[in-house]
Amino acid sequence: MEDILSYTSLNKGRIEKICSNVNKLESKYSSLSDYELSKMTDRFRFYLREGKSIDYIMEDALAVCKEAIKRKLDIVPYDTQIMAAAAMSDNIIAEMQTGEGKTLVQILSAYLYALNATKDLDKSKWGNIHILTANEYLAKRDKEQNEKVFNLLGLSCGYVEEKSKLDNPNYHRDKQKAYRQDIVYGTAKTVAFDYLDDNQLKDVRRRFFKRELYHAIVDEADDILLDQALSPLILSGTLAGVDVMESINFSNYACYFVNGVKGYRNTPVTCHLANQFNRNRHDEFNEDSIIFKDCLRIFLSEDLMDEIYKDKTNFQNVDIQEKLFNKEVAITNAILAKYFFKRNKQYILKEVGRDIDTDGKLKRVYEVTLISEATGRQMPKTKYRDGIQEAIEAQEAFLAKGKYIVKRTNRKIDRSVITYPEFAKLYKTGISGMTGTSDIEDFRDIYNLETYEVPTRIPSIRKDEETELYSTKEYKYEAIVRDIYQRNQKLQPILVGTISVEESDELCKYLDKYGIKYQRLDAMNEQDEALKIEKAGKKGMITVATNMAGRGTDIKLDEDVKALGGLYVIGVSKNKNKRIDRQLMGRCARQGDPGETKYYQSLDDELILSRYGKAKLLAYKKYYADQQTKINNPRVIDMVNKCQEREESLSKEDRKNKNEIQTRVFSAHRKKMFEQRNRILESTNKDFVYILMDIIRNYATSIINNPEEANKARHLVNVEACYNEDSSIYRENIASVIFNKFKNAGRKYDINEYMLFVKTRFLDIIDSYWVSHLMHLEDMERTILNSGIFTVDTIDEFEIEANKLFADMSDCIKNEMLTYAIYPNMEIGSYVLGDSSVIGGDIRNEITR
Ligand code: ADP
Ligand code: MG
Repeated sequence: MEDILSYTSLNKGRIEKICSNVNKLESKYSSLSDYELSKMTDRFRFYLREGKSIDYIMEDALAVCKEAIKRKLDIVPYDTQIMAAAAMSDNIIAEMQTGEGKTLVQILSAYLYALNATKDLDKSKWGNIHILTANEYLAKRDKEQNEKVFNLLGLSCGYVEEKSKLDNPNYHRDKQKAYRQDIVYGTAKTVAFDYLDDNQLKDVRRRFFKRELYHAIVDEADDILLDQALSPLILSGTLAGVDVMESINFSNYACYFVNGVKGYRNTPVTCHLANQFNRNRHDEFNEDSIIFKDCLRIFLSEDLMDEIYKDKTNFQNVDIQEKLFNKEVAITNAILAKYFFKRNKQYILKEVGRDIDTDGKLKRVYEVTLISEATGRQMPKTKYRDGIQEAIEAQEAFLAKGKYIVKRTNRKIDRSVITYPEFAKLYKTGISGMTGTSDIEDFRDIYNLETYEVPTRIPSIRKDEETELYSTKEYKYEAIVRDIYQRNQKLQPILVGTISVEESDELCKYLDKYGIKYQRLDAMNEQDEALKIEKAGKKGMITVATNMAGRGTDIKLDEDVKALGGLYVIGVSKNKNKRIDRQLMGRCARQGDPGETKYYQSLDDELILSRYGKAKLLAYKKYYADQQTKINNPRVIDMVNKCQEREESLSKEDRKNKNEIQTRVFSAHRKKMFEQRNRILESTNKDFVYILMDIIRNYATSIINNPEEANKARHLVNVEACYNEDSSIYRENIASVIFNKFKNAGRKYDINEYMLFVKTRFLDIIDSYWVSHLMHLEDMERTILNSGIFTVDTIDEFEIEANKLFADMSDCIKNEMLTYAIYPNMEIGSYVLGDSSVIGGDIRNEITR
């Protein structure tokens, strides 16, 4: 049912009107020379400078841009593309099916925003338009294609690579240059990390963003903005002083402990764990340990923890750094790694080479590589956080039994963190975007963005069959194979979508059993992707694919296939999110082609196991145990359908809470911190002295007000000698004595060098405190998320507590700076960071649990 109050229905008429007016302007601009056309940009800027709104010039601007596209790309933008761009000028997500031409919309929409971003006569005030893509290939392809049009319109265009400084010696120069252009192409990840990098700088000349972030246009917006909304982008660093072996051993001990081997055999605790977790696979409540399956969080009861701590083996002695190597966390992670994370589901073992093992033998080396649930693709640079990655690697290494080597990750600490919803807020005019499958509510909830549903150029004639429900997985697979067989008999091409590599494996066993031939596409079988997709629409083809076949892929049909009914899409089980289901369904019936879809479900499906009342489910399973045909009871079907809705609303709730914490705490603190940091980073010598004097004056005040402080400062300044009735003179006297100490300490150095030196140390101080502050916050966040009780009050309390921590930290930073300024040779306490020059590139991690 169409929502009559949706953005789409409210604005349909207006947008169609704009489009038809743009078409009427065609002859006006087609008669202009290239030069005259390019001068139109200045005309539009002039109007905007004069205070006219973008709406005033929109029709003409779109007509000019359309003309430029015609000339440079030799294609005429469709009406639907003009409509999408017109809507997007309003900070809108345009929903447009794959193949409908989103790439051209980038140009039209970016042009409108760029006019405003570059309207000022003073070029130093110009802002950037970022066009953010889901992957590197798209950024490069689209930039190369669209650049010509932008140039004709008098706009410059650049592209930022994902490559790190290790791959490209001109890394900094190239990036800075790209970011100086009017339109900048890059992956969302690269740009967000560059922002984090920019706020870890020691030298302001190395800054990437020299222009204001004016607006971002996000292509494949659902992937970047929704699927990855909760995966923080984390700039991490190694922690100096932590031995790699020590860190690996720590995860190993936890792993042995949980597996009950090497000295942990049959201890009461390990037996208990084995019983507990093997028997009750899902959200079972037990007196000894509580598992919140939803978020993969585990609680161990006090008794259980006591028993664990009683253990007097090596594991006891490894509590090196409390925060990083915490026994309780290590054990719960090891439990997760053994019982919840599964190879070929959340991750795969990817062969990365060979190496000599400790026993002197040459062996294959495998790496634990995560797979994105939404896209089914490998995420080579993404790692789990909080020690989970290390725990999974330990478990896999244990399972390898010396037959092969599992690559181990060194423990990292977070240096800076940001999520996409927070990143989006950094743009002065926010963001807009295009997507194949929108989730209107999610975009509204998380980003405050409305969706405009652009009609397809040719109406879709796709047929979606009723979902079929079976009592067990086996019966379901048998039914799917029958279905595949029948369709295949008449040579109709079939795309079978699964939710994981594991599910593909299971289904393929059934296909093999009946000798049905197929091709596979998933994270374990991703070679020749383009070729497989090309073949998928051919007569008689069966393709078994994970969500990898979901996004952006266009399956082309042969003419004779259309007569057979087009592509037939089968969903083996439903995803946690309806939007991902719709993506798979959208693979067929493209651009007016015929096509059909059908989903299958069974009472064994994970989605149902985790979301169904357990007692009820057992009863139904028993009742239908012998029924091999589909279940027709509408009550059962209805309840099964609700599982997906329930899953969606739970994850919505979870996300809402996390976003709230992000905004109110993490982002707020980050903003303050970055501001403080930038003030120091950008300061001239004179500014810096001023900042320093501020700190010293504060200190002088506390000496005056606090006899204890005065006593401590005795060796530094003769307080009595500074005395004056006028307290401000008194304070200045003390301050100037202390300031002179600072000056004297620097006497033997070149003044600029000395100032830079002290400044850099100050930045170090800020950074190291920020790192430990982040750790604290994450600990606190984990604690309240773990508690499972989440109310408005919890977040309020968290915010208050976090702000207290922040205030404490700010005091500590000032004190440390002061100490350093007076005794510049002193070492900085707190965490010592690893070499910051390796930051960037391979330690740009994302995702957590
Ligand atoms: P999407 O990103 O929406 O999946 P693309 O932008 O990749 O779609 O476009 C799909 C195909 O349609 C491309 O080959 C593109 O060149 C073509 N195309 C897009 N717009 C037009 C147009 N106005 N006229 C002709 N072909 C177009
Ligand atoms: Mg595209």
